Amino acid sequence: MLKTIYLIRIGRLDQSYLRDLKTNLELGFNEFNMNVEILKKKIKLRRNYLDKTNKQYKAQKLLDLLYKNAKEKKLFRILGILDKDIYSKNFNFNFGVANRGSHAALISISRLRESFYIESSDLYRKLESQETLNERILKEAKHELGHTFGLKHCLNDCVMQSSNSLRDTDKKPVEFCHPCLIKIKNFLT
Ligand SMILES: [Zn+2]
Ligand SMILES: [Zn+2]
Repeated sequence: MLKTIYLIRIGRLDQSYLRDLKTNLELGFNEFNMNVEILKKKIKLRRNYLDKTNKQYKAQKLLDLLYKNAKEKKLFRILGILDKDIYSKNFNFNFGVANRGSHAALISISRLRESFYIESSDLYRKLESQETLNERILKEAKHELGHTFGLKHCLNDCVMQSSNSLRDTDKKPVEFCHPCLIKIKNFLT
């Protein structure tokens, strides 16, 4: 059976990010017979998802919403993507979140840009390589989807290494290690 991962925008985000991610994810999950679709509708970023004190969005609330979507429409997997900073309990920020073995995952691309960490970001944003950004997005997307396929964090040379900084994300490979691949295979059968 063909398994479909649905990508959905949350708030304002250029469709080109989703198109690139679709292509890269299809290659990335090639051996699992998955395809990737981009949902036309997007999720509105409502004020009540925003924590007013630290100006970050509540990852868990957004994840709950995605999960509700997946459940109602019986989607195999849904991955929400937004360009706003997110956080959850016990973390100052998240690159992404997912519940293990669940149907929904969420990633934020805000902190995957160098410009996030530099003042007067407009100047620097232009200098950033789209290719680097796309690779970071792919890593975080595969990582969070990996959690939905039952994976925990991994110490091997593997995309399931946890990232606490952009440097961590850049350091880890885009691939799953062999034991993690086996675990995904077992999880899906
Ligand atoms: Zn993780
Ligand atoms: Zn691994």
